[in-house]
Amino acid sequence: MLNRYDVVVVGAGTGGCMTAKTLASAGLSVCLVDRKDEKAIGLKVCGDAVGKHHFDNLGLAYPSGKEKEGDISGIKIYSPDLETVFRIMGEGLTGFMINRYRFGQRLLKEALNAGAVLYDSTHVFSPIVNDGYVKGVKARNLKDSTVTEITGKVTVDASGVSAIVRSKLPPEMKIESTINKQDRVVCYREIRELNVQLDEPDFCEIYLNLEAAPGGYCWIFPKGRTKVNVGLGVADTGNHPNPRSQLYKHILTRPMYEGSTVVHGGGGIVPTRRPLDSLVGNGVVLVGDSGCQVNPIHGGGIGPSMMGGKIAGEVITQALEAGKPSRENLWPVNVRFMKAYGAKQAGLDVFRIFLQRLSNSELNYGMRYQLIKEEDILKASMGEDIRLNVTDSARRIFKGLGRLSFLRSLYNMARTVKKVKQLYEEYPTTPKDMPKWKNKIVELFAEAKRTL
Ligand SMILES: Cc1cc2nc3c(=O)[nH]c(=O)nc-3n(C[C@H](O)[C@H](O)[C@H](O)COP(=O)(O)OP(=O)(O)OC[C@H]3O[C@@H](n4cnc5c(N)ncnc54)[C@H](O)[C@@H]3O)c2cc1C
Repeated sequence: MLNRYDVVVVGAGTGGCMTAKTLASAGLSVCLVDRKDEKAIGLKVCGDAVGKHHFDNLGLAYPSGKEKEGDISGIKIYSPDLETVFRIMGEGLTGFMINRYRFGQRLLKEALNAGAVLYDSTHVFSPIVNDGYVKGVKARNLKDSTVTEITGKVTVDASGVSAIVRSKLPPEMKIESTINKQDRVVCYREIRELNVQLDEPDFCEIYLNLEAAPGGYCWIFPKGRTKVNVGLGVADTGNHPNPRSQLYKHILTRPMYEGSTVVHGGGGIVPTRRPLDSLVGNGVVLVGDSGCQVNPIHGGGIGPSMMGGKIAGEVITQALEAGKPSRENLWPVNVRFMKAYGAKQAGLDVFRIFLQRLSNSELNYGMRYQLIKEEDILKASMGEDIRLNVTDSARRIFKGLGRLSFLRSLYNMARTVKKVKQLYEEYPTTPKDMPKWKNKIVELFAEAKRTL
């Protein structure tokens, strides 16, 4: 095999496969490198829920047959005391429960059918950087331990949360190589066959409870009437509780799990911050979790990683036609992604920072008095501004409880979300304006972390 391509894509997950398919369909030579064996690609610990709109936006066929394990019509969000339930339905919340493995294998097949070449069982351990450009990767074949160099005009890091290329880039690439641990959520989930029938198998359930899941949440996502994907995530604060123990203590003790059997159990990490401020450098592009392209509130990253992959594939094709894959020529990846999804992510990141600092009683009161209404939660999750519903009676009640500071913080959060979105509307169209913009966004988030 000649180890030289137009583009080397590291990681054959949802983001990498979509990138490779887009590039190969445009006639470029592209390889996909993954440490997993071909037959294991697609195996990933996940909540397995994907919004229908992602398939529509990407022109991707809906999951069907064994790839689909359920339909989603909406979501129920429970307050910590379980007294209030927000039932949210509508555009943006309908979707599918997928068989993650079969879905991953489908995406891989589509990339290979388009002409991408697969290096499976191949562990990438470092980028090759020459003359200020990323020129490919160094990798070890896990079957025979041989080390190879796979070169390309552009290298795409789609290696998920491990971000193997990004984490080893030199500072002159002007890409953040590390992210704060507090901006990640550590999860454990099980797929369980139940002994009982679920009442509403088309509703995903989310339980907010900062004692059970500090900085995260618990989820029960049905896969038909008698199977669930049940999990729990906690913010990676260093002294966080073990998500598996918390799941067993707080959720799996419920009667519905009596006599249930575990089909699969496992853990994983999700980055839950705004996207990295720049997803490109000379000869390099980040896609999916490696670029933090995940919804900061619910942790959904399958759709955005595919969106990121499609944008990356299209821009790389244009950049190579234009000549050099310089940071400047790859910059439209940033502009397009920030407009399509990054601005919404950044707004939701402020909301996430706010939510992570609340106590259970604040969440209980906030939900009971509908300080944000159910329908506005849906709109906010679609990227619209956060509209508050603080009535006079709610204000009196919070005053009586000595919790006016909570309301002030709520207003502050909504204002900050607006400011962040405005700033994303001014996202620089060329790299030369980046330092000024970057200073502003970093300052705004530092202030949010200080004051919310
Ligand atoms: C517990 C959990 C629940 C989640 N639930 C949902 C959900 O319900 N819905 C949703 O949309 N999202 C969910 N997510 C997030 C979602 O799974 C990710 O955002 C998405 O899979 C990101 O895709 P990706 O292509 O960036 O990375 P991945 O899908 O992780 O793919 C990365 C690929 O890179 C390969 N790789 C890694 N390192 C190397 C290396 N050094 N060399 C070679 N190959 C390498 C891996 O083998 C893998 O195939 C969840 C995540 C977790 C952890």
